[in-house]
Amino acid sequence: VRARVMQVETKPDVSYEDIGGIDEQMEEVRETVELPLKSPEMFDEVGIDPPSGVLLYGPPGTGKTMLAKAVANQTDATFIKMAGSELVHKFIGEGAKLVRDLFELARQHQPAVIFIDEIDAIASKRTDSKTSGDAEVQRTMMQLLAEMDGFEERGDISIIAATNRFDMLDRAILRPGRFDRLIEVPKPDAEGRELIFEIHTRGMNVADDVDFAALAELADNASGADIKAICTEAGMFAIREDRTEIRTADFENAWEKIQHEEDESDEVSK
Ligand code: ATP
Repeated sequence: VRARVMQVETKPDVSYEDIGGIDEQMEEVRETVELPLKSPEMFDEVGIDPPSGVLLYGPPGTGKTMLAKAVANQTDATFIKMAGSELVHKFIGEGAKLVRDLFELARQHQPAVIFIDEIDAIASKRTDSKTSGDAEVQRTMMQLLAEMDGFEERGDISIIAATNRFDMLDRAILRPGRFDRLIEVPKPDAEGRELIFEIHTRGMNVADDVDFAALAELADNASGADIKAICTEAGMFAIREDRTEIRTADFENAWEKIQHEEDESDEVSK
């Protein structure tokens, strides 16, 4: 069971060139994570502790997971992913045990990047922390912070967490020595969207007259994940019409379809 909830990738296939529109965020992640993994002795010699944890926050599908994978790739680190929701358990001590196992796994695979998605699942502000379920969740969070504090024993392990709900977070986890590097990963602007279209169509057979700048203007509130979906769907439109070249209209139809689907899923979740 444990192996299933923790996803381990020895060499994630994401590189910095695959990520568009968030250069500043990428630089900051690199500076914070790459340096301590590549030259830990620098920190010893200077006599400061490397940054503890990085928190990426922002809307879904903006490239947070990609950033964490790319930095693991670049540093030849093992990428270990776990969702915060997987750490929420009914039985006392179960969540804390999973956290210990997670760090143990990372120590065995050093250098390693631990990526905890949906950190809000174990670290949100609670109105009522007296119920036993909440107390268990808090113990899990305390265990995570304890593992992060024990830097000497932590070795070459970087910790990156992500959330879509920054406003919900318990501020205690943002204190110095904890997740003290906050990096906002926003939705891309028009220029970013154009870059992301170019990235995702690299291997696609796109007609010469397709104008990605215009498509980026059209898909004005799309995330990176939406753009990826538009590109795949545009390819499907071409295939349905028995064509192998993708035209502007295919991208436009794909965007229509994806917006429509998102509206429907919003309805369902209401
Ligand atoms: P969530 O909060 O939902 O976990 P996330 O921010 O971690 O989302 P990713 O999993 O990194 O998002 O992105 C999902 C997919 O969307 C990626 O695999 C990629 O194909 C595409 N994508 C998202 N953002 C970008 C980007 N900035 N550049 C290129 N592709 C992107």
